[in-house]
Amino acid sequence: MSSQKLSHNVKRIHSSAIRDLLKHSKMEGVISLGGGIPNPDLFDTEGLQIAMDRALSQDGHNAFQYGLSEGDPLLREAICRISADRGIDCTPDDVVVTSGSQQSLDILARALINPGDVVVVERPTYLAALQVFQLADAQFKSVGTDGEGMIVDELAELVKQTSIKAVYIVPTFGNPSGVTLSEARRQQLVALAKQYDFLIFEDDPYSEINFTDQTFRPLKSHAQAMGASENVIYTSTFSKILAPGARVGWITMPGWLKSSVVNLKQATDLHTSALSQSLTRHYLETGRLPEQIRLIRAAYKQKCDALCAVLETELGDKLHFYRPLGGMFLWATFKEAFNTTEWLKTTLSNGVVYVPGEFFYCDNPDTSTLRISYASVSETNLALAAQRLKASLPQ
Ligand code: PMP
Repeated sequence: MSSQKLSHNVKRIHSSAIRDLLKHSKMEGVISLGGGIPNPDLFDTEGLQIAMDRALSQDGHNAFQYGLSEGDPLLREAICRISADRGIDCTPDDVVVTSGSQQSLDILARALINPGDVVVVERPTYLAALQVFQLADAQFKSVGTDGEGMIVDELAELVKQTSIKAVYIVPTFGNPSGVTLSEARRQQLVALAKQYDFLIFEDDPYSEINFTDQTFRPLKSHAQAMGASENVIYTSTFSKILAPGARVGWITMPGWLKSSVVNLKQATDLHTSALSQSLTRHYLETGRLPEQIRLIRAAYKQKCDALCAVLETELGDKLHFYRPLGGMFLWATFKEAFNTTEWLKTTLSNGVVYVPGEFFYCDNPDTSTLRISYASVSETNLALAAQRLKASLPQ
């Protein structure tokens, strides 16, 4: 059968370049700074076991049955309590449970993006979001980032000239940028959305993994205070704080969008796995999540501090980076022109891989950049990796 039978749509997406590059990272002796996955040693397997036992013994009828497309009402209530802690005021009616943030983005793109609609993304941005908006045939525009996240002044110039449909942003502890949007820019962004009537897709998987005492109020929370709640659609997930394999996330949205999202959810997979929802709800009921988040924060912060120190020592004269305030990623830029995609061949032969930065751009990629994920790497290996990177530099 010929591949010409494939749809136009699927021909537009290519196998993830990252996945192709990183297939070597499983090789014996190679230290991977590439994969963006949570550290499995930090899964609360004991708590998950308790929750699963309760799901099976107390909730069997629900856990094994079809459920509502918008998700388990009790889980949606629990999500509203988590949202309140983050400064977001919502009711279960505002929330749809999804099979993770990736599905949330896919559903939102299908609900809201017509071919040619302009979607603004950060430079750099989350690769799999680019794939989703590409499938919806969006037209991309990009806005730069610095140590305070998206440069909203650049966006302000753009919206004066071009009509845009939406901004997609990971404002807190970004993937891949590792940076966090400042409070002033959060307010500026929400004010712009209100003034120019565009949507903000606020993707927030990482905000609980906070290394500081500061709170970073979601854009959705600012929008509620600024009379712009209808402009912000908020997505989050249990993937980084509980278990990505459970595949449970959610969308918090304005009322006008709800029934469309529920219809799309129904057409996509009827509903998120009832067993996964029951597991998640029972886990939340154990009350173990705050301690679990505390452990993840402490462990990732320690790794991040160690990484920053060894990078400074080994490569400080060559690389510039912003110290992450939380999350799983550090973004580094060579101070002089460099091609990190080419360099990967050398570093791989020296036993270390990372993700070249160029894949995280929708246009004009900066090839002198790279993403380092520290979440699953031991401090010893972080130090060794920095030494190997240094040894891989052109002489
Ligand atoms: N958005 C961002 C910014 C992410 O980093 C990820 C996970 N890599 C996702 C969405 C998808 O997360 P989930 O497991 O909830 O689908």
